[in-house]
Amino acid sequence: MRPRKRFGQHFLHDTRILQGIASAMALRPGQQVFEIGPGQGALTEYLFDQRLERYLAVEIDRDLAPLLPAKFPGIEVLEQDILRTDFAAVLSAPDQGGSGWRVVGNLPYNISSPLLMQLVDHVLAEPMNVADMHFMLQKEMAERLSAVPGSKAWGRLSVMTQVTLDVQYLFDVPPESFRPPPKVDSSIIRLTPKKDLTLPVTRKSLDQVLRLAFAGRRKRMSNALKSLNLDWQKLSVDPGLRADDVSIENFLIIAGQTENLQD
Ligand code: SAM
Repeated sequence: MRPRKRFGQHFLHDTRILQGIASAMALRPGQQVFEIGPGQGALTEYLFDQRLERYLAVEIDRDLAPLLPAKFPGIEVLEQDILRTDFAAVLSAPDQGGSGWRVVGNLPYNISSPLLMQLVDHVLAEPMNVADMHFMLQKEMAERLSAVPGSKAWGRLSVMTQVTLDVQYLFDVPPESFRPPPKVDSSIIRLTPKKDLTLPVTRKSLDQVLRLAFAGRRKRMSNALKSLNLDWQKLSVDPGLRADDVSIENFLIIAGQTENLQD
């Protein structure tokens, strides 16, 4: 079957990489796996095991989705768009003492950013539901997710992700590991929900601050955030900093004041 460009299909065939993902995940019997975009089942083959409690997958391609249950008896495949998937409905709550879903996917690059934001929302809404997530992403995106303040990759996506998830950059994957090879390098990352998921501000106000701050990333914060009418004297944040150098903690402090201003 010819790979479909519109679904971002680049199928993994490099056994070293497939084994690397499986050992990074270290699945245990009784766990529940949720795979996004299994395609022809390259990764599924290394992860699927009858001893797992459940193996659920979402695949949009109606030619590929029906082929998987024959290859992996017991797998559940939903033929649908992951961006329209109601995670709260399809990911059942773990049993008492259960570890939560192990989420995995060699993601289509064109949807990875909105998908990650939807998953962050889900993790915030249902804190015990997801144990961790292992994703193949475009290398540049993996760098943004795992970036630290002061680096070029530090941005809105880094902050929005890291307030909720611990991000570990695991390893790089060259284009030759896929058929057809993508034009960019890829990387595997592990995202683990933080122990304490209570945010001191709403995601909406944090997002508003981040959008303004990083839209004017070369400007000083006092200038980039002018429209928010902040009282910098009451904040323990240097208004002369540029967004590139502002920590998550300080973005949360700023967002907190925007909420108080609205009271
Ligand atoms: N896991 C397979 C592998 O590693 O060889 C396939 C990876 S391929 C990069 C991405 C997969 O996601 C394809 O099978 C594609 O059909 C599927 N896909 C693309 N967009 C999707 C969407 N919106 N919802 C669900 N699956 C999608």
